[in-house]
Order: sequence, then C-alpha cells, then structure tokens
Amino acid sequence: MAKNKKNDKMDRLVSLCKRRGYIFQSSEIYGGLNSCWDYGPLGAELKRNIKTSWWEAMTARRDDIEGLDAAILMHPAVWKTSGHIDEFTDPLVDCKTCKARFRAEDLAENKNPEQCPACGNKTLTEARQFNLMFKTFMGPVADDSAAVYLRPETAQGIYVNFLNVKNASRQKIPFGIAQIGKAFRNEITPGNFIFRTREFEQMEMQYFIHPSEDEKWFEYWKEQRWNWYMELGINKDKLRWHEHGPDDLAHYAKAAYDIEYEFPFGWKELEGVHNRTDFDLSRHQEATGKDMGYIDERFKEKFMPYIIETSAGCDRTLLTVLVDAYVEDDSRGDKSTVLRLSPKVAPIKAAVFPLVKKDGMPEIAEKLYHDLKKRFKVFYDAGGSVGRRYARMDEAGTPFCITIDGQTKDDDTVTIRDRDSMEQTRYKLAEVADFLAEKVE
Ligand code: ATP
Repeated sequence: MAKNKKNDKMDRLVSLCKRRGYIFQSSEIYGGLNSCWDYGPLGAELKRNIKTSWWEAMTARRDDIEGLDAAILMHPAVWKTSGHIDEFTDPLVDCKTCKARFRAEDLAENKNPEQCPACGNKTLTEARQFNLMFKTFMGPVADDSAAVYLRPETAQGIYVNFLNVKNASRQKIPFGIAQIGKAFRNEITPGNFIFRTREFEQMEMQYFIHPSEDEKWFEYWKEQRWNWYMELGINKDKLRWHEHGPDDLAHYAKAAYDIEYEFPFGWKELEGVHNRTDFDLSRHQEATGKDMGYIDERFKEKFMPYIIETSAGCDRTLLTVLVDAYVEDDSRGDKSTVLRLSPKVAPIKAAVFPLVKKDGMPEIAEKLYHDLKKRFKVFYDAGGSVGRRYARMDEAGTPFCITIDGQTKDDDTVTIRDRDSMEQTRYKLAEVADFLAEKVE
C-alpha cells in the first residue's frame, strides 16, 4: 500500500528526533522495546522546559495551588476504591487464525468489523475485558497477597493526600494540588511514536471547590489550560475542544472536554478537563472511614468538595510541540528542515560561532559562550562553514545564532541571526544576554 504523505512527515520527524538527539528507541541496540522511547540530550531539555512551564503556570505562579510528588506504588486498595481494578479495562478481540489481538473499539471503526484486519479471516472471538494496569509484586513472595500496581494515573496520589496537603498548607477551598509524574498503562495498541506509550508522564492538577461553583471553575480551568498551549507557541488553528457526550462521559464525571490537536494522523486528545464531582473523595471516605468533608466559614456548612481536574500528558505535549514546529522550508537550500520551537521551550537557546577560527574570533566567542552559559543553555560551534552551522541549529530548533566576525574586534558588536526570518541584526556584545533573557523568559 502506498504510504501517505502525512505519515511520511511523521517518519521524517522520527528520524530528525534520532539524528539530532531528541528521542531514541528504547534499548535500541537490543532491537528496541515496542512503544518505549528514551529522550536524548535535546529531548531531555525540551521535556524539562515543558514541565517547568507547566509547573510555573499551575503552582509556582499561583497562591492557590500546592505541589505534590507522590509514590508510583500505592496501597492496592486505592485502585479497588478508584474503580481501576474492576473498570480500567479495554474490550479485546482475538483472531483465532492468526492470534492477533485488537481493541474492540478500533475494530468497530472498520468497514468490515467481523473481519480480522491482519489476516482477513472472519475468525474473531467475542470481546473480553483486559485490565490495563501493570501488576507486580512487593517483597520476595510473588503471590496475589503481595500484588501492587504501577499507577495508571497520578490523580489518585493527589486524592489520598487531600487531607495531608490541606492540613499542612492551611489552604482554603477553592485550592488545588498539582503533580507531575510517571504513569503506566498496558495499552493494547500503542503507537504513533510517543503519542500512545505504555510508560508516560502526566501533568495533573486537581482543584477542590464548593459544589455550587463547579460550572464557574470548570469554565475558568478550560480557559487557563487553553492559554497554556498558546504560551507554548502552539498554532491555535490546530487546537480544538471536544466535548464528551453522554456515551463517552466517564462514570464519575459530570462534564468533560478534551483539548485536541490536529496531528498528521488526525485530531487526537492532548488533555482532559473534567468535572469529577465528589466521586473520588466520597469513595475514599467510604473505603477508609476518614472524614474528607470540608467545613468553610464562607459556606457555613460541611460539604464534600467537588473536583475540577486538568489532566495533560507531558510526552503528548512534547510531540505536539515538535509536530507543530516542524517545517520543511525549501528556500533554505539542501538542509531545509527547521524546528520553529518557541524560545521558551527550545532546548538550546542560542549558539555562539566564531565566523572563522582565527584573528582572535574564537577567544571572544568562547568568552561570550562561558558568560551566557551561566544563565542559558547555549552551544558553541567553531567547525565547518557558517551556513552549515546555521542549518544544524535550525534543525535542532535553536532560535538564535550569535556570530563573532571581523567587525567584532573593532566595535564590540556581533550578529544575531533569527532562526525563522533568517535575518541578521547587529547587537553590542554587552546587550546579548538581555536580548536572550527577553526572548526566553
Ligand atoms: P486516550 O483516550 O488517548 O487513551 P485517556 O482519555 O485515557 O486518553 P486520560 O486518562 O484522561 O486519557 O489521561 C490524561 C492524559 O494523559 C491524556 O490526555 C494524555 O495526554 C495522557 N495519556 C494517557 N494515556 C497515555 C498514553 N498511553 N501515552 C501517552 N500519554 C497518555
């Protein structure tokens, strides 16, 4: 079958990620592990910048949200209470002929849902429920009494710490708890590069409110979360809201909207904003006997807080940032790929080049590089033609290249080249750090 152009773009992005050190296949020298990926030098920086941006927007810049870093392994009863043991399942269908396994939901979208997409035979079984949690054993005995799970979401760590955080921080409702951390799901059909993986990182915030104010806070958080993607520099024409109808609304939710992005493989969910009502705290109260109720002078009553949740995927955001920034610009000559990353998230903020390796230029360039390095992630490159050095930085997503040339010694000025416009402007050496700070911060 001929591959379509859109998938080719994904293939080229995957290969750029490997070439430039953004993302590698996990355990590649052993043949790779399906759907597991490692972040290389630039990928690790990009991911850190995305998480920092989220953390700043969701806790550091706010008075009403506290941070948390809960353990991945939790008491197994948590997952019974949350419903994950009984309900966190995907209906699966097997092919009796070729033994391939599919999600019933995916098959339903096919033209011939009774036919095996792999071998074409009509030998599919009835759907069976398959739990998506990874199970392991705590301690030396591998029996069911020692079973624990790798958390499939970070949210439960927040609910079970609601009382601890409230008491320690003395926050009053409305307030939130934010957390970034790994989650694991034994997905049946992972794929599309880092879009759906079995190990991923979530950035979740749970906002505790009075039930009478749920609609107000739901709208507020929808707006805040949309604005965060704008801050990351994502093209707003590629983003949209998807409202969950009565059929796809989770059992605990009163309202749910997803932010979707138009990937080369279609519109897909990036983040969910959910009104989870008092479902979670009530369930944990019921299971543990701990009083999760809240008394507030403003409302003059005791009530069970409602929760507005914002749940984003870090890896999915990173993929969105890369896809959105990836441009093939033929006007730039043979190396025509540019990653137009926003300076705020770009792994390398600027590259410093001496135009040539003589006439005192490397010395000035190295000094500038060391000065800038104290505040920014910068890169020094003295090798090869300057055109090739620019092209390498364009592909790595570096927004600015600073070149020390023959004029620098005479008037203390350098050129700063803008990655996107390719325009070069002269600045005083002493102004470079402020220029970068303004763009990056
Ligand atoms: P999907 O429908 O894509 O499976 P979901 O509705 O199950 O997602 P949530 O449980 O709401 O997702 O998780 C919140 C966020 O966590 C998602 O919006 C997504 O960004 C991220 N996420 C969930 N599952 C994965 C995964 N397998 N790989 C990468 N990110 C994920």
